[in-house]
Amino acid sequence: MIETIFPILYILAAAGFILAIKWMNSPTTARRGVVVGEVGMLLAVVGTLLRYEVVNYEWILIAFFVGSAIGVPIAYIMPMTAVPQRTAFSHACGALAAALIGTAEYYSHTPHGFVMAALALETLLGFLTCTASLMAFGKLQEILPGRPFTYPGQNFVNLGVFGAAVAIGVTLVFSPEKTWLFPIFIVLSLVFGVLLIIPIGGADMPTVIALLNSYAGLSASAMGFALDNKLLIVAGALDGSSGFILSVIMCRAMNRSFTNVLFGAFGAIQSSAKEAKEERPVRSASAEEAAEILDAARSVVIIPGYGMAVAQAQHKLREMYDVLTRHGVDVRFAIHPVAGRMPGHMNVLLAEADVPYDRLVEMEDINGDFSRTDVALVIGANDVVNPAAQTDKTSPIAGMPILRAHEAQTVMVIKRGMSPGFAGIPNDLYYMDKTLMLFGDAKSFVTNIVKELGSAATAR
Ligand code: NDP
Repeated sequence: MIETIFPILYILAAAGFILAIKWMNSPTTARRGVVVGEVGMLLAVVGTLLRYEVVNYEWILIAFFVGSAIGVPIAYIMPMTAVPQRTAFSHACGALAAALIGTAEYYSHTPHGFVMAALALETLLGFLTCTASLMAFGKLQEILPGRPFTYPGQNFVNLGVFGAAVAIGVTLVFSPEKTWLFPIFIVLSLVFGVLLIIPIGGADMPTVIALLNSYAGLSASAMGFALDNKLLIVAGALDGSSGFILSVIMCRAMNRSFTNVLFGAFGAIQSSAKEAKEERPVRSASAEEAAEILDAARSVVIIPGYGMAVAQAQHKLREMYDVLTRHGVDVRFAIHPVAGRMPGHMNVLLAEADVPYDRLVEMEDINGDFSRTDVALVIGANDVVNPAAQTDKTSPIAGMPILRAHEAQTVMVIKRGMSPGFAGIPNDLYYMDKTLMLFGDAKSFVTNIVKELGSAATAR
């Protein structure tokens, strides 16, 4: 009976994972995608627990409680802005679990041939993803220095360590009984994970996390072959390919090549630029003036960025959207693919504030409209509206596609001061004649604008 139930559960789980990825692709269906993915995972876990190989539930229960005791508080405590490092930490745990299962399989069954090859691949990827993800976590959490660490011949050293690990893996495939080689294989894989991340700067870390996600997926898929578990093969392949596609999308959005991310040592925040004090004058305005300009406009495009996320200004922004829409202003939100600190960051926050999905417009679709827009209101965004990406070939963000806010009739920028954004470079947009700086915390400033819009409406 059980033998017939668990394949059905596995098929339903696999279907759930595929639909989850499909539905998470759009803000309108994303919530449904998350739920169906969760149900799929529940079915996968139940199906696996029913399998005849499970002979002792005690350790599983202990692991369940320990895992939940760590995972549940992390999910609640970690702020949205820390999701990249939280994801890196989860990858480290998942990859370690895959690698340990591979190790246990090796010592308990000493497999041969294809199964040993799958197991070697799985343990190599699992251990290297574990240490690489922990390094990525450390850099993003600023426990480790975020700047890239390089030295002459680094790529050769890295290649040497990786080559040695692969050579031992191949030897083990042909002579699995050489058990003394396995610990060396593990150490080399762990060391390679650390070496892989050392030369990569903090700016590239979220892209690398997407890539590590892909490695963890491949490891799980290889584990599926080693354990003859078809669901693991499917789920791992989905994870591996979607992680890879995501990292390619992120590279494109930042105009960075894949090899450049892995070997380019980019991402040192340009401290000289950060410290350099700009002496050029800027024009600033009060919340009252900003409210008047917004109220008089026919079309407004709001450009949210990392600062909106930090200030958690999305709910106040929604209120401002409601008031302006009631006053007959056409308000839309322009979404840059890498605004904030993780893919989809702005979509998630604006969806949380129930901003209508059809008001969120992707970069390619809105860029042509800026020249016909009365006001571009930039809220805590900086790099994603920096014209230097298009005009200065020497800029660290040269070639990165930007939201063309500078083409709007009037530009207003809410930020606390003149600090640069993530790339650490100045932004000429702030010094344009048509730009008004609205200095203050994003949430407080938008709150004040909403108040002013309210009093203006009552005075009418
Ligand atoms: P930026 O990091 O370029 O700029 C954010 C701005 O927000 C800062 O200039 C800061 O200025 C302002 N700010 C910070 N806190 C507040 C606050 N409380 N209220 C108001 N303003 C605030 O953000 P963008 O979203 O424009 O760009 C994202 C950057 O992150 C890009 O360089 C992108 O490549 C990079 N990145 C994005 C990833 C992603 O997946 N989304 C992944 C990896 C990197 P001030 O201190 O003066 O207030």
